[in-house]
Amino acid sequence: MKLIFLGPPGAGKGTQAVEISKKLSIAHISTGDMLRRAIQLGTPTGLEAKGYIDAGKLVPDETVIAMVKERILEDDCKNGFLLDGFPRSVAQADALSSFTQIDCVVDIDVADEKLLARLTGRRVCKECQGTFHISSLVSEACPVCGGTLYQRDDDKPETIKNRLNVYHAQTAQLIEYYQTRGLLKEVDGDKAPGDVTQAVLAALGCK
Ligand code: ADP
Ligand code: ZN
Repeated sequence: MKLIFLGPPGAGKGTQAVEISKKLSIAHISTGDMLRRAIQLGTPTGLEAKGYIDAGKLVPDETVIAMVKERILEDDCKNGFLLDGFPRSVAQADALSSFTQIDCVVDIDVADEKLLARLTGRRVCKECQGTFHISSLVSEACPVCGGTLYQRDDDKPETIKNRLNVYHAQTAQLIEYYQTRGLLKEVDGDKAPGDVTQAVLAALGCK
């Protein structure tokens, strides 16, 4: 199965993608995680991406498209994959359709007012890349692996506003794009994570 998760920053795409990809035994492909890793490693892609990410802007289409095109050829994608954070523009969606066929697109919807609190309270594990909200943490360590948690530079309030603007200007139109193509399923993301997972599975026709 080849899936796309759509939704604004902070909708819970990453959290849901981890659960759903495990349940369906498909690869979880997060372009945000791939870019952050590239930045850590100091690769040419990382060096190019850093300025855009820190400003809350989209990394240029050509760069991200090339990255995904290569990634889906890897062995762990044989059974399918779940794209988390890609496509984010019509140009990316058009490019994607030229090299693979998607089975289903799930839009995880959350109102803007809720997103700000979710994003400013988000912490990420340096070791396992898991994401957690400060309200659910009992210590400063990652509840999954004990790793160190940090706040992403782009989770500061000023950058969050830019990311939400970019979402509405460039990514939200993909909802209609995929609706027109008969691939879209809508899920309410304003619920407990486990309930959202159940709703996604139901939308996909799985139990
Ligand atoms: P979120 O969904 O919470 O915004 P991500 O980790 O998916 O977080 O993305 C973080 C940043 O990485 C984005 O703001 C953008 O700069 C860059 N990025 C990730 N995916 C893409 C993409 N498909 N196209 C362009 N830029 C991207
Ligand atoms: Zn961890």
